[in-house]
Amino acid sequence: MSVVEISDVSMAFDTRVGRIQALEDVSLTVADGEFACLLGPSGCGKSTLLNVVAGLASPTGGSVAVDGEEIHEPGRDRGMVAQTYTLFPWLKVRANIEFGPKLAGVPRAERARISERLLDRMGLTEFADAYPRELSGGMQQRVAIARAFANEPRVLLMDEPFGALDALTRTLAQDFLTEVWEADRRTILFVTHDIAEALMVGDVLYVMGTRPGRICERIEVEFPRPRTREIEEDPRFGALRHRILNLIRGEVVPEGEVVA
Ligand code: ADP
Ligand code: MG
Repeated sequence: MSVVEISDVSMAFDTRVGRIQALEDVSLTVADGEFACLLGPSGCGKSTLLNVVAGLASPTGGSVAVDGEEIHEPGRDRGMVAQTYTLFPWLKVRANIEFGPKLAGVPRAERARISERLLDRMGLTEFADAYPRELSGGMQQRVAIARAFANEPRVLLMDEPFGALDALTRTLAQDFLTEVWEADRRTILFVTHDIAEALMVGDVLYVMGTRPGRICERIEVEFPRPRTREIEEDPRFGALRHRILNLIRGEVVPEGEVVA
């Protein structure tokens, strides 16, 4: 059964330099419990598509349904994790994670159970009583992910959540996400421009191209779960990486050229 159904979504923007077709006839479905990735170069419309699914932008054509219901605005069934840290600075880590459940009226004991489990999985237990400003960027982003999982949304939308992290912190954050997802199997639509990251975390990749923004290919990633860094040594990893690079190569907008 599909949770997210994106049907012929198009999005055009009128700008100073003319009309930009950010998305053209994009269709895909995300199945229940699936980890789907949108992968493509800068400017191919990944964020635009995610914002449409989030209900933050209305497409110029097509529609998006979640659990069969067409969406027109943001809702609690969709949780968003953005690239920049969006924690509440006045709340401690634990309270940040419990914020959504508290708002939803989840009883205190149950809230504590949810946050304990996520703190543990994300390696944050020692920092439960710290404020976000006391944490590194990588840890703050782990809290943001824990907070999104705590809300138990129908689908999690993640827009380059590790984009602001250095390479080493980024791999660690990917490992934490993989672990928490493998325990929870929440439906995820994850955006990245990093091929290795998509191969590490995702089950299904939608490789996107530019001008117009569209889906070039759907690729199933069949590395077994639980997944570890060892897949990087697998010859299939290199082969997939190479294939995707070739797909994307012609799609990169030349440096210095105006995108918008
Ligand atoms: P990505 O996230 O893949 O880098 P975006 O979805 O941000 O790509 O952008 C896709 C294209 O649409 C780009 O050419 C971008 O400049 C353009 N675009 C995105 N949002 C707007 C907007 N609000 N107004 C005008 N152009 C936009
Ligand atoms: Mg983007």
